[in-house]
Amino acid sequence: MSLPRFRYHPDPLRSGSVGESPGACRCCGQTRGYIYRGPVYSDYDLDDSLCPWCIADGSAAARFDASFVDEEGLSTDASDALHDELLLRTPGYNSWQNEVWPMCCSDATAFIAPAGLTELRRDFPDWEEGLRNHILFAMKIPSRAATNLLESLHRDVGPTAYLFECLHCSRRHFHIDEP
Ligand SMILES: [Zn+2]
Ligand SMILES: [Zn+2]
Repeated sequence: MSLPRFRYHPDPLRSGSVGESPGACRCCGQTRGYIYRGPVYSDYDLDDSLCPWCIADGSAAARFDASFVDEEGLSTDASDALHDELLLRTPGYNSWQNEVWPMCCSDATAFIAPAGLTELRRDFPDWEEGLRNHILFAMKIPSRAATNLLESLHRDVGPTAYLFECLHCSRRHFHIDEP
């Protein structure tokens, strides 16, 4: 059984926002082998209790008045259609601080994965230079401190780097927890 396709979060298994689980989904009641492990914004406690199919088809958002991506993290330039697809039908990602979802080419970017220095050098070696530039120029952190931040990045304890890629021009985008 393959997972539903999420335009803005193409591999939620790899990113850790969806994991294998024997638990039943609180929305559809089915045990489908996978459960959503990312953030849920709702009055209900829905941690680790929704299947990715109920996120993809919008049923979980509708039933629990829930969203899965923080509205504050999306540009106000986003269209209503994009706003709904990203917030209501896309798995979010766990972050230490506020979630940010960069835009590029008038669209949301795709979330690839959270990464510490270990994951970056092992799985995304050609992203390191772009990440360093993001720290230097977007975060305006001077070079010695930038190196320290880069070397302190950790997937499990933070600060963590969040990697995104534009669906149109393939430009890479980054978000990093404030050190
Ligand atoms: Zn379900
Ligand atoms: Zn772009």
